[in-house]
Order: sequence, then C-alpha cells, then structure tokens
Amino acid sequence: MTTYVHFKFEIDADGIALVTWDMPGKTMNVIDIAVTDELDAIVTRVASDAAIKGAIITSAKESFGAGADLNMLENLNVTYRALLATKGEEAAAKAVYDESSRISRIIRRMEAGGKPWVAAINGTALGGCFEITLACHYRVAGQNPKARVGLPEVKVGVFPGGGGTQRIARMMNTQDALQFLFKGDQHTLERAKMMKLVDAIVPMEEMIPAARAWIKAGVWPKNEKGLIAAPWDLKDFKGPGGKIYSPGGMMTWPPANAIYRRETYDNYPAARAILQTVYEGLQLPMDLALRVESRWFANVLRTPQAAAMIRSLFVSMQALNKGIKRPAGAPKSNLKKIGVVGAGFMGAGIAYVSAAAGLDVVLIDRDQEAADKGKAFSQKLISDRVAKGRATGAERDALLARITPTTDYAMLGDVDLVVEAVFEDRKVKEPVIKAIAAAVKPGVAIASNTSTLPITSLAAYSPKPEQVVGIHFFSPVEKMLLVEIIRGKATGDAAVAVAMDFVKAIKKTPIVVNDSRGFYANRCVGNYILEGHLMLMEGVPPAMIENAAKMAGMPVGPLSLNDEVAIDLALKVMKAAKADLGEKAVNPAQEKLLTFMVETKGRLGRKNGKGFYEYPDKGQPKFLWPGLSEIVGKALKPDQVDVEELKQRLLVTQALEAARTVEDGVVMDPREADVGSILGFGFAPWSGGTLSYIDFMGTAKFVELCKKLEKKHGARFKANKQLVEMAKTGETFYGRMMGDAAKAA
Ligand code: NAD
Repeated sequence: MTTYVHFKFEIDADGIALVTWDMPGKTMNVIDIAVTDELDAIVTRVASDAAIKGAIITSAKESFGAGADLNMLENLNVTYRALLATKGEEAAAKAVYDESSRISRIIRRMEAGGKPWVAAINGTALGGCFEITLACHYRVAGQNPKARVGLPEVKVGVFPGGGGTQRIARMMNTQDALQFLFKGDQHTLERAKMMKLVDAIVPMEEMIPAARAWIKAGVWPKNEKGLIAAPWDLKDFKGPGGKIYSPGGMMTWPPANAIYRRETYDNYPAARAILQTVYEGLQLPMDLALRVESRWFANVLRTPQAAAMIRSLFVSMQALNKGIKRPAGAPKSNLKKIGVVGAGFMGAGIAYVSAAAGLDVVLIDRDQEAADKGKAFSQKLISDRVAKGRATGAERDALLARITPTTDYAMLGDVDLVVEAVFEDRKVKEPVIKAIAAAVKPGVAIASNTSTLPITSLAAYSPKPEQVVGIHFFSPVEKMLLVEIIRGKATGDAAVAVAMDFVKAIKKTPIVVNDSRGFYANRCVGNYILEGHLMLMEGVPPAMIENAAKMAGMPVGPLSLNDEVAIDLALKVMKAAKADLGEKAVNPAQEKLLTFMVETKGRLGRKNGKGFYEYPDKGQPKFLWPGLSEIVGKALKPDQVDVEELKQRLLVTQALEAARTVEDGVVMDPREADVGSILGFGFAPWSGGTLSYIDFMGTAKFVELCKKLEKKHGARFKANKQLVEMAKTGETFYGRMMGDAAKAA
C-alpha cells in the first residue's frame, strides 16, 4: 500500500478512507507542491479503488490548515517574470495558468469523482484549505472556540483560486457572497454554520464518528448516473442568489460595482477579479465556471500588485515577525516586568498592551493622580472588551492586577526594561532618563518613545548610553501594529535585542532603523502631510486633496491625518526643526498655514474638535471647515486641477523620502521600509510599500516622474543622488539591498 509523507491514509472495515493531513516538521498544514502531488494521488485512489466507499479529510494539527503556501505563489510570480523574459508572454502565461489551476482541478475531482467526501474540520481552516472543505459533500466541525474559517486571500492581493469564489457564490445569496469574498474575514464555526458553510458542529471526539455515520447513511443528492453530486451539479439547480439577469440580479450587481469602486478605487486587481469571476461564473456550469476562476487567478497572480502584496504583507511581514533583524548572538531576554514612565496618552496605551501580553507593569507619572489616570485607560479598554464578550471578568481582573501605578522610581528596581513616554521636551526627558538609569539594575535597557528627538542625544543622559534605545509606537498604541526600534550611535546589541523581544511579546511587528530626525516613518508621513498643506495653499479644493489621497490608496487624506495627530504638534515639530536646522528646514507656505490654524484660530485638530475639519456632536459626520478659504485665498476650480498629478504627488513625496532614508543609512532593509510604511502609516497597500512602489514602477521611470514634479513644484521632489545612480542601470532596491535573489521580483 502506498504511503504518503504529508497524509496518513487508513481504510476502515466499511471501506471509508480517513485521510489525515499532517505535514512533518510544521506546526500548520499548508498547500505546497508536495502536498498538491499527494492530494492528487489520494483523490485518484479514492475515485478509482472500488473497495473505497468514501473518504474523510481531517488534520492532525491544532488547526485544519492555513491555506496555500504563499512562498509557492510568490515563486510562481518569479517564474512568470523569468519565462516572460526568455519565452514570451504566451508561454509564461500558460505556465502560470497550468500550475496555479492545478489544486482547483484536484479539488474538483474530489467533488465530482462520484464518491462522498466529508471534511472533518478540527480547527482553523483558511484560504485554500477552507476551499478543500467547500468541495466536500458534507462539513462537520469539532467544537473549538478558537477555530476560524474564511477566505482571506484578498488581503494579500490575490483571491480564492481553488473554486472558492464559485462555491461560495452558489451557497449564499450574491450580496453576502461578494461581501464574504471582498472582506476576507475569518468567522467562528457558529457563524459559519449560520451561513450554511458548515453543516454540523459536534464535540471534537464525535467529529470523525459523525463523518463516518454520514457516509454510511448514504443519504445524499444523486446525479443522473446515480452518483453523489454537489447541489450545483444537479439538473435544475437554483442558487440562493438567483440568476444574474433577473430582477434580483439587477438589485445586486449595479450597487455591487459601486461599492467595489468606493472601497477600492479600482486599485486592487484581486478585488476586481472577484467581481468578474462571480459575475461570469454564475452564468456557467460549474466546470466552466471553475476555469473562468482559474484564468482570473493566473491573471491576478501575474500583476505587480499581487507580487508586491504577497511579498510585503506575507513573506516579509512573517520574516520580520520572526525576528530576523534581531542582533545575532544576543541572549534571549526573559521579560516579566517592565516599567513605563509617563502615563499620558502613549504611556497608558503601552501599559495596556504590555499587561494584555501578560507582563507586569510599573506605571510611573509625576503624581499619583496622573499615574492612576494612566491605569484607568486600561480599565476602560478591557471593560469594553468584557462588555462585548471578547474577554472574561477574570481576564480583566488579572490584567488590571498586573499594572501598578506609582510615583516611586524605586519600584523600577526589578524591571527588565523601561519605556519612557514623558513630554516631548528635552528638559523633561533628561532628568527622567537620569532617574531611570539610577533606579534600574545594571544593564537594563531604557527605551524612549520620542517621536523626533535623536536617540543618540537622549542616550547621553544615561551613564551607560549603550543601554538606551528608541521604541517608537504609533497611536493608538492598542490598534497600530508597527513599532519602530531605533538604534542610536551608542546603542548596544543587547538593548536592541530586548526591544525586539518586547515588541514580539506584545504581538506587534518591529522594524529596526538607525537614528535620524523623524527616524523613518515620521519622515515619510511628514512629507505626506506637507504635500496636503501645500496643495491647500495652492488653492486645490480641500475635498479634492482628501479624495485624491484615497484614490491613490491612502486610508485617510493628509488633512484628516493632521487633525488626528494634532495640528499644534505639527507646528511644534516645525519650530523645533527651524531652531535646530535654520530657516531653510521649513516651508514658508506650510508655516503660514499652521500658524494661522493654531495661533490665529486655535484649531488644534480632532482633540479640541476644531481642525481642518469641523467635528459636530456625536453621531454627525465631520466636515471640512469652510473657514479654510480665508487663508487660501482664491480657490482653483476643480477642472483646473489634475487629479492624477495630485495622486502622484502624494505617493511620490513619501516614496522619495523612503529612498532618502536608504541613502542616509537610516533604513537598511527594503522589507522594513515596505512593511513599516503599510503598517505604520497606511502607505497604499496595493503598491507593497514605499520602496516597492519605486521598484515596481522602475527606478528610471520614478526618477523621470520626480523630475517632472520638481520642475513644476520645486526642489522637494529632487531625486537623491543614489536614486539617480540606480536609475541609470535600472537597479531596484531589493536587488541592491538584498542581492540577486530579489532581482527577479
Ligand atoms: P502626554 O502629554 O499625553 O503624556 C506625557 C505624560 O508624561 C503625562 O502624563 C505627564 O504627566 C507625564 N510626565 C511629564 N513629566 C514627567 C516626569 N518628569 N515624570 C513622570 N512623568 C512625567 O504625551 P504623549 O502624547 O503620550 O507623548 C509621550 C511621548 O510619546 C512623547 O515623547 C511623544 O513625542 C511620543 N509619541 C507620541 C505620539 C502621539 O501620537 N501622541 C506618537 C509616538 C510617540
């Protein structure tokens, strides 16, 4: 009897095959080439061996399976590019189609092979793995509150290519199906059962017996040959969504198209392909529909957007989360207790995420009242979670018991790390850092959450500058996934390693950058906001600025973003830059605007309910402040404005700054720039991030674009020297910084 490496295959006395997926050496099952080969053989065997009456597929891992191995999809894209160069478009496209549609064809043979297949879902089943279960004739899940099912492919720039779009669209009404596919959410088993995506949920130990019993009972729909068949393969099948060309279809499709445009601005080929495949597929019998899906899938896989998103949002993010940037050889830290000094807006958030991760927290402020207020923030957040059923009362009590608010620095005597988050003022930070250094055990890392002050200068306040490091959080701390770790000139490896271990413990993604004013993220974001300000001062209607930003793929417009981070802060940062670097460091038009907003009009942003937007009472949407016209003077008419150029300016100014951080030695790895830009400030995810935006456009083309913008809008668009050099040979950032392996992408 044939054995398999990735599956256990057992046949019981009733002729029912139990196929248990268990990839050796992996914590989770994924679909890779070896698994595809074996599944192919198993499906053939079940269909052709007369002694086998039916099959159950399950997993021996904690979860059922995580989906397709995205490294495999990334390689397919690399193969495509290589073949395109050597054999031409047709051969390259065919190779991608043949390979990427294979799993869909195998899954279809499970469904249409004439023997019953049951999915015994023992845990989370996502993407391609969930698609395997959708092709089974019956899905029984074992009770498991942690289990989730769903098709999240769209989040990394692709879409379900294993029949998922077609089966979901035949199992749900079209509106729900499109939502399911567009959003890529993960659902609990109970929800999946309500959506009829899971047939039964039973106690875990009854799952396999229930699967067997279903096969033995033999009650299932049969086709004209008397064989088991999926509902959609039966004559006269009517899906819950009805026909496309019907009154119901007319109610669904025009709004679906509009919602797609509103949500994506047509920036995501995968989302567009979902609409196309469902629309076309629902008009065809299943075999043809699946071919349509496969064609779109191969098509999307070849797009730069899919390549860029898989690379940044999956491959690179996974690498960064694994800690590839952790200094080699630094001993693993055993973090149990941390100190947070400054219990304000940021410190309170840092205390919350740390306590939520199981760390004890000493939370210090100037007086007990301020420290208590910092802890009250955790009380509020966790109580909200309890109210929503996302945490238990016991979890709330344990979390709060871990936070000790105090004014006593002596309590830092047994902490493993301190994060300083006091006022952004050197005069305040200096004595605080000195007091921390005097209170902690020797060698304990002291981290500053400063947004602008160079870490090297703050490190000088400690007798041991090597223990000082930057840990730059983004607000709101409990939501934002990125943390920027800053290495000052004197920062030691041990401090960087502890910072990384801390970021891992609180389940955020770290990037490690070298010291500079604004570090990495704020340099790029600062440019984005500046560009919005300058557009405003040119007379571009503010609504056009905000909309152009969204059309370019940014989650919020620059004016809206400035309101969130506070306009007075922008003015403070500008004044500090002017004091340190002189007049030239600031843009006079921006200075005029910020001074007007803050000093003349007292408009500080969302925090005082007055910014570029007006914030009416609760429940009413914000709207752009009409008084902006007072400072702008004569507004341009919308048709005098080139929207494409606005979009370019907003992205190019950020990407160009990212390129400068590379030349300045601040960013040392393109993956950190890319992942950091998407997680930290929402840089157009379709592009794969700031440096991928340049790489996929082509360095030469990007430099051309910079030249065009420089001519029209000034020196801030001047491409830096290194970029110009790279453009001459068409060098990419990934090629330059990561070697040959990355060049093909
Ligand atoms: P905040 O004003 O809300 O909080 C500062 C806290 O520090 C206050 O509670 C204050 O009482 C306390 N404090 C002041 N002097 C102190 C002292 N001598 N000893 C102990 N506590 C003292 O400010 P914030 O927005 O939380 O910013 C804190 C730091 O985080 C700053 O360095 C800021 O640049 C940085 N940061 C802010 C953001 C943001 O979006 N607000 C983002 C990233 C980084």
